[in-house]
Amino acid sequence: MDTAYNNSFSWDHFLSCIKSDLDLVSYEGWILPLSFIEIEGSTLVIECPSMYIKNWVNTNYKEIILNIIKINFPYIKDFIINIATSPEHEIKNDTIDNFSSLNLSNEAQIENASEIKLNPKYTFDNFVVGTPNEFAYNACKRVATDDKATFNPLFIHGGVGLGKTHLMHSIAWEIKNRDPKKQIMYVTAEKFMSLFVSALSDRSVISFKELFRSKDVLMIDDFQFISGKDGTQSEFFHTLNSLVSEGKQMVLSADRSPLDLDRIEERIISRLQGGLSVNISETTYELRLGIIAAKAKNMSINLPYEVMEFIAHAVTTNVRELEGAFNKVVLYHQIMNTPITLNMAMHVLNEIIKHNNKPISIETIQKKVAEHYNIKLADMSSTKKDKVSSSARHVAMYISKQLTNSSLPEIGRKFGKRDHTTVLYSVRKIEERLRKDQLLENDIRILTNIIQKS
Ligand code: ADP
Ligand code: MG
Repeated sequence: MDTAYNNSFSWDHFLSCIKSDLDLVSYEGWILPLSFIEIEGSTLVIECPSMYIKNWVNTNYKEIILNIIKINFPYIKDFIINIATSPEHEIKNDTIDNFSSLNLSNEAQIENASEIKLNPKYTFDNFVVGTPNEFAYNACKRVATDDKATFNPLFIHGGVGLGKTHLMHSIAWEIKNRDPKKQIMYVTAEKFMSLFVSALSDRSVISFKELFRSKDVLMIDDFQFISGKDGTQSEFFHTLNSLVSEGKQMVLSADRSPLDLDRIEERIISRLQGGLSVNISETTYELRLGIIAAKAKNMSINLPYEVMEFIAHAVTTNVRELEGAFNKVVLYHQIMNTPITLNMAMHVLNEIIKHNNKPISIETIQKKVAEHYNIKLADMSSTKKDKVSSSARHVAMYISKQLTNSSLPEIGRKFGKRDHTTVLYSVRKIEERLRKDQLLENDIRILTNIIQKS
């Protein structure tokens, strides 16, 4: 140990440099657990409590650390991180007696492979809540903020691109925010399995077990991929039992409910049912509109309302594709330096909205128009006389006349057995309004475009 160097090195100064380069969560979560040991030659020796932290720091903050020492402590050329030998660690070593051939590099491999970075954008703040996801959102919020694991395991299920991964990362961020010392592990089911399989071949099964069981929170994403892999399943079951019985939180996600999982052991399904299972259902027009508005606001982009409406109508599959469409419009605006208008958005999204040659049905028209004006589908046939409902009916009849070959009496029948003169009156009424009402014109263009392609 070189004391001369030691004297001029200040760990506090080092920390304050890093602190100014990182966000607080990362700093508190990953840097604060480190401690200074010594300067050995020209190497800074740091200690940290776990292999997991060590790998994380080496993967994510190596550049930053090297940069800081280069600028502030030029006599230091490199750094290494050692893992502290805590009493807990020694006990752990006792239990792996049978595996005396176990070498650290196997363990290191496992730890390393298990790291998946959390997406900084996937937070509760960035999650738009609506009818399809509000139950899931509230359950996740509870899990992230409650000290006791009340809903355990929490099982989030729903189709692709609906926000499962986003919610899982949000839980992790929230827990880390509240208590940076909490050990959270987030893996996909595929990763979980491949870790298990490689642990089997490396004979490091015990360290595999410890790796998971030493966590406060374990999250496994896309759990459906674990189906049918018997060895992994039984390992998973033991991990699940041990974590749950110690009051540690488990969060799982899958594209279907526990009951619908194929080829998963009965005992696992029944264990999962002992927790809380929450569903994220297909998006609604309203939620899509909210998500686009939030994204535009986040990016400080001035998106005309009719463009938001158009995108929310156009992309109904899932949020991932919705974001894709939004990004495409924004990118076009930025690259081509043109303002975002309805025409522009229709042009840009032309190919991504699938073209459909099926004849257009009046039912589709009614559905899209009802969605657009936020009225019940049933009101297309009702006699409700408020302004919004009757105007929406007029629009739907007008579009039906334009886009289908149905006769006026046929249209009338589909709108609550109305007379053909009523349909004619509605069509005329819209034609008249269109001459001076720009908003109505936009509505009808959006709806026509969407209906033609749905
Ligand atoms: P899943 O894991 O269910 O397939 P993701 O969590 O990856 O879906 O979500 C897909 C994309 O949609 C992500 O970029 C995510 O941020 C976004 N997203 C999903 N739901 C919402 C929501 N309610 N609010 C904001 N963004 C969302
Ligand atoms: Mg996902």
